[in-house]
Amino acid sequence: MTSLPASPPPKQLGLVIDLDTCVGCHACVVNCKEWNTGGYPAPLSDQDPYGAEPSGAWLNRVHSFEAGEGANGRTVHFPKSCLHCAEPDCVTVCPTGASYKRSEDGIVLVDEALCIGCGLCAWACPYGARELDPLGGVMKKCTLCIDRIYNENIPEAERQPACVNACPAHARHFGDLADPGSKVSNLVAERSGMDLMPEMGYRPTNKYLPPRPRRNQAGALGAPAALEAADPAGGFLGWLDTLLSV
Ligand code: SF4
Ligand code: SF4
Repeated sequence: MTSLPASPPPKQLGLVIDLDTCVGCHACVVNCKEWNTGGYPAPLSDQDPYGAEPSGAWLNRVHSFEAGEGANGRTVHFPKSCLHCAEPDCVTVCPTGASYKRSEDGIVLVDEALCIGCGLCAWACPYGARELDPLGGVMKKCTLCIDRIYNENIPEAERQPACVNACPAHARHFGDLADPGSKVSNLVAERSGMDLMPEMGYRPTNKYLPPRPRRNQAGALGAPAALEAADPAGGFLGWLDTLLSV
């Protein structure tokens, strides 16, 4: 068992992702892979990349969801990576201390030198946010680009996660969600930002801004009912539950 910080971190860095403006282009996915393959701490491996069954370790993925039909139809793109939870069982189940939550900014990391690749943290994560890299035999996950955000060798404006820098739709925002006056906290308040699967009790730091109603072809304002209903038994959150459960 590994302990969490004794008191809540003074900062809680994380992402706010706007499902209204994400266009599913995967620029964030590719830039994440490039940054984490080209630099510290180690490459994210690929297996059979040009073969019949390519696979590999990716720390950020985008899933797409079709809602409604005909004139009321709509596609929602859902980027998913570690949510840097406040109560992450992925940390407390770790038998070696490899998984840990930083006391200064709340980022959840893996010390690869201590990881034995047992996979317990992946079982404990309800969001499917951990990736066992088969080449190194160690667990990997989003680091919030800790090697960028504090890196004084790169321009200040670029000291944010690679995924945020890459997003052409400005659908990704980075900041301190423990500060009620931060830009990200204001976005969450203005747009009713949501936790993913709050019933799990992990208290994820990352928040999602729900899709806004659109005009359909007949000019009526309204999104498909499936997107507006925050009902775990169906609709958008129901789809998320199904997606994250497989
Ligand atoms: Fe851990 Fe998963 Fe939460 Fe990330 S999203 S902190 S891997 S439980
Ligand atoms: Fe969505 Fe932005 Fe990622 Fe593209 S880069 S998939 S728009 S979040």
